[in-house]
Amino acid sequence: MTEQMLRFVHTPQQTPEKRSVAERNHDFGEIYRIFQEREAARQSSRCSQCGVPFCSVHCPLHNNIPDWLKLTAEGRLEEAYEVAASTNNFPEICGRICPQDRLCEGNCVIEKGFEAVTIGAVERYITDTALERGWVKPIVPRRELDASIGIIGAGPGGMAAAEQLRRRGYQVTVYDRYDRAGGLLIYGIPNFKLEKDVVLRRRALAEASGIRFVLNCAVGQDVTLAELRARHAAVLIATGVYKPREIGGPGAGLGGIVPALDYLIASNRENLGDVVPDFASGLLDAKGKRVVVIGGGDTAMDCVRTAVRQGAASVQCLYRRDRANMPGSMREVKNAEEEGVEFVWLSAPEAFLGEANVSGVRAVRMHLGLPDSSGRQSVEPIAGSHFTLGADLVIKALGFDPEDLPVMFGDPGLEVTRWGTLRINHRSCMTNLPGVFAAGDIVRGASLVVWAIRDGRDAAKRMHEYVMEQKALPVAAE
Ligand code: FAD
Ligand code: SF4
Ligand code: SF4
Repeated sequence: MTEQMLRFVHTPQQTPEKRSVAERNHDFGEIYRIFQEREAARQSSRCSQCGVPFCSVHCPLHNNIPDWLKLTAEGRLEEAYEVAASTNNFPEICGRICPQDRLCEGNCVIEKGFEAVTIGAVERYITDTALERGWVKPIVPRRELDASIGIIGAGPGGMAAAEQLRRRGYQVTVYDRYDRAGGLLIYGIPNFKLEKDVVLRRRALAEASGIRFVLNCAVGQDVTLAELRARHAAVLIATGVYKPREIGGPGAGLGGIVPALDYLIASNRENLGDVVPDFASGLLDAKGKRVVVIGGGDTAMDCVRTAVRQGAASVQCLYRRDRANMPGSMREVKNAEEEGVEFVWLSAPEAFLGEANVSGVRAVRMHLGLPDSSGRQSVEPIAGSHFTLGADLVIKALGFDPEDLPVMFGDPGLEVTRWGTLRINHRSCMTNLPGVFAAGDIVRGASLVVWAIRDGRDAAKRMHEYVMEQKALPVAAE
């Protein structure tokens, strides 16, 4: 099947079908169905094949989007996959969970007037098809190198770097404190955005490629950074950011007030079939409860939608700014609203009510003031505007900061920025410790999967150059 390009005037935008609310609110399956071949070709044919493709410019991986859209429109799917995979290690994951409205699709030139090409959905379709048809093969390096690399963290940053280094022939070992690989892809992001088989399939491919995983291994406890440095020619730190930002105020220590990631990890583990005592005891289960989630980012959206699926009696999201100033993806806000979540905009918690367990949140209305030095409008409470929301479970989703890595790793010499993220030389991706590199959220602060992949790829390139230099060997052309 071949479609002509530039069809955006005649062919309207069509996103993959979304499962009905009645159906999806009762399970954790992904909410979008995959395109069929004909739809993917038709939607790809809407692309106007821009000379300067702003979609690619605004994709952190600079994917060759117009090329793979054209190949998809022409029915040349295997080639489309090759092009998509040449710049992205996990295109089927990005296709599912990138906030495309802020990245590629938000910058598609036909967005104004004709609605963007559905780039993410096509990217997912191409790669899911490639995986299903067996076109995605384990990595077989052209030659094996007698040099090993240690990677701390099996999230998207660490996994992307591991693949890139294995491709160059390195002996790669990935260490992670969790019992499964994937980082936030496996334990943070819920199934309704990213089913876990998709992540497990990537781990299996990595293992089949010869990448070794050492799980249940917390660096700093089970092995030191110094030991890893002695064991490997170079080490990558890709440990993400996990320290939850806290809420203070009266009653903040009451039972039933829980951090977002504890709640999401319990739900993801439960869905993976693990025994989760805090879920079984009801502490981290929203069933039958009045739930209030505090925060306005992607994590908050994942919590409210998880609570809906667990059968909460009501779910409210308290956010101190308004809809237009939310950090979370608009697509996810819309999905949450469809699923019955109530947003309480321009409101902030002041105190938590209850005896031993929380029974309510006292909040105050806010108004947006003048922009601060970062350009973001400040928020100020409106005097006398207090109100109370009933709550049996309060989930704190105010964002994450880095753990204290120099302390955690027992290596006070490791330099961090004033935000606690690792300080690297952005040209070499190396920390101040020779041969120790860093990538992903631990460098950027809480960010996106696609940026972690980009950082992992960049770090892999620089680590290769570093090892070759140490061995006084030339770096082969890419
Ligand atoms: P991580 O994915 O955090 O992986 C770090 C790994 O390091 C973990 O496996 C951890 O166990 C391991 N580790 C940490 N310390 C140690 C140690 N001492 N020893 C050994 N191992 C260690 N991004 C999107 O693009 N789209 C989304 O829809 C989206 N939704 C999100 C929802 C939630 C709830 C959260 C929390 C984040 C979301 N993000 C989303 C952000 C995204 O998940 C992260 O930006 C991305 O996972 C960062 O990748 P990373 O590899 O840097 O770190
Ligand atoms: Fe868009 Fe993300 Fe894919 Fe880039 S990786 S093309 S930003 S969906
Ligand atoms: Fe195609 Fe839009 Fe990218 Fe232009 S900006 S190449 S129309 S997807």
